[in-house]
Formats: sequence, C-alpha cells, structure tokens
Amino acid sequence: MSKNLLEIRNVSKVYQRGLLSTKATIALKEYSLTMPEDDPSILTVAGESGSGKTTLAMLLLGFITPTTGQIIYRGKDIRGLEGKEKLNYRKEVQAVFQDPFAVFNPFYTVDHLLTVPIKHFKLAKSGRDARDKMDEALNSVGLRPEDVLGRFPHQLSGGQRQRINVARALLLKPRLLIADEPVSMVDASLRANILESLRNLHRDHGVTIIYITHDLTTAYHVSDNIIVLYKGDVVEKGDVESVIRNPQHAYTRLLVDSIPWPDLNKKWGDPLKPREPV
Ligand code: ADP
Ligand code: MG
Repeated sequence: MSKNLLEIRNVSKVYQRGLLSTKATIALKEYSLTMPEDDPSILTVAGESGSGKTTLAMLLLGFITPTTGQIIYRGKDIRGLEGKEKLNYRKEVQAVFQDPFAVFNPFYTVDHLLTVPIKHFKLAKSGRDARDKMDEALNSVGLRPEDVLGRFPHQLSGGQRQRINVARALLLKPRLLIADEPVSMVDASLRANILESLRNLHRDHGVTIIYITHDLTTAYHVSDNIIVLYKGDVVEKGDVESVIRNPQHAYTRLLVDSIPWPDLNKKWGDPLKPREPV
C-alpha cells in the first residue's frame, strides 16, 4: 500500500465570535483530502474571499487546530508531534503567504532571513556551504545573489521580496509547500515568473504544493487538480482542465467567467487580452 504524505480527515473549523456571543462561523466543513507520498502533485484550492482558504492553510501549518477531525502528516496526527518529529514537520512543511512583507523584519537584511533557517535546521556544514545553498536557492527563483544579498526589505521590489520567500522555502527542501495567494500582491508582470519557480520546485524537487488562489487563470497554468471552496464547503473537484472547461457548479461557472481571456490554449506569458464583447 502506498503511503500518504498528507491526509485530512473530516476537518471542520468553527470560529466563535467573542465569549458571550452565540454566533459562530463555520470556516471549513468536514473537509477531507489525501495526497500520496510517492506521486507529488500541485493542488489548487480556489474560492472567493471568505471561503475558508486561509483557514485551511493555517490548519495545515498547525497554527490553528481543527474543531473536529484530524490532520495526518506522514502517518502522524500533527497535534501530537513533539521534539524531533515536530522540528521535522516544521522543516518539511513550508509556506509562502500573500504579503511578501509579512515574514521580513525591516531591520534585518535578506542574508539574515536566509541564514536563520540554515542555522536553525542545521542545513549547512560550513559558512561556505551556507553561502552556496543561499546562492543556489536565489538562482533558482531567478534572482542574482549579488542583487539582493545585503539589502534591507524596503530596498527590494515586491516581486523580489516574494521570490526571496520562495527561495527561503526552497532552501529547506520541503516536501509540502502551502502557497496562500502568493502572487495576488505582486505586479502582473512578475506573476508568471514566481509561479514558474513554484512549478520548478515541484518538477525538480518533487515538492507537493497546495496552491491557494481566488484566480482560476493562474490555477489553470499552475496545477494538476483543483478543489473549489464555497463558504467552507467543497462544491467541485477534479482535474483542473475538466473543471475549468466544464464547470458543473454555478459558483465555479462564476469563477470561470471571471477568467480574463477566452482562449485557454493561450501560452502562459502571452499578454492578456480583454474578453471580446458578446
Ligand atoms: P479566505 O482565505 O478564503 O478568504 P478565511 O479562511 O480567511 O477565508 O475565512 C473563512 C471565514 O472564517 C470567513 O468568514 C472569515 O471571516 C472567518 N474567519 C477567519 N479567521 C477568523 C478568526 N480568527 N476569527 C473569526 N472568524 C474568522
Ligand atoms: Mg485568505
């Protein structure tokens, strides 16, 4: 029997609003998912704002706990991880968030951001080795180390910051990467570039990626499979091609209709054309 990298079993997350209030938000409803260990893929989780996407990311990273259900990573419930296993989980499961500023401390240079995980997870044998690993990670996201090392966050463009985030995740050679709207705050011209570095991470290092987005255009180019969330419920799932070409649920159709070009065969990177008036 092949093993699972990740297994989400009937996970629900309910947020209570204040101590005295009886109102509650069900952000995720009995959600289940399995991702096999030996066949890494890219899964898109799509849905409009408020559909529960970030809740799912936070649950997977262990930042919040499920109200009911379990998240199993390589055979173990992540709630019960301790010591070495927990450290390993934190190394193998990485995230890239929407706001490329969020993980930067304004007082530290890019070098610092990259050397902290190298030290913490003991990734390098020497200073030279650490530098080589940093260079390799930066090169693979299309950044030249000499352009960014030694700089402070405010001295970089948004696209550079986000690529450094991807490079940081790459440094750790994660098995699972959770990318929560990684390009929504980045200029359109740089989006393809960043998404391509995610794809390369998958192709070259076998990283399983959960790509979270409200934008089905990028989903089409990035992922193999897709699930569509609507108010915490999965309304549709399947391979990305058939879901986008032949959406079954009204809500998915709405998302598909907001794709800005009519021709899905267009090559990635071609300029976007406005939809022809009908
Ligand atoms: P998305 O990322 O798809 O925009 P979220 O997971 O952030 O969706 O939110 C899902 C729902 O849960 C929304 O209705 C949101 O208002 C609510 N929510 C998210 N985080 C909290 C929280 N910490 N406390 C209370 N409600 C929350
Ligand atoms: Mg979100």
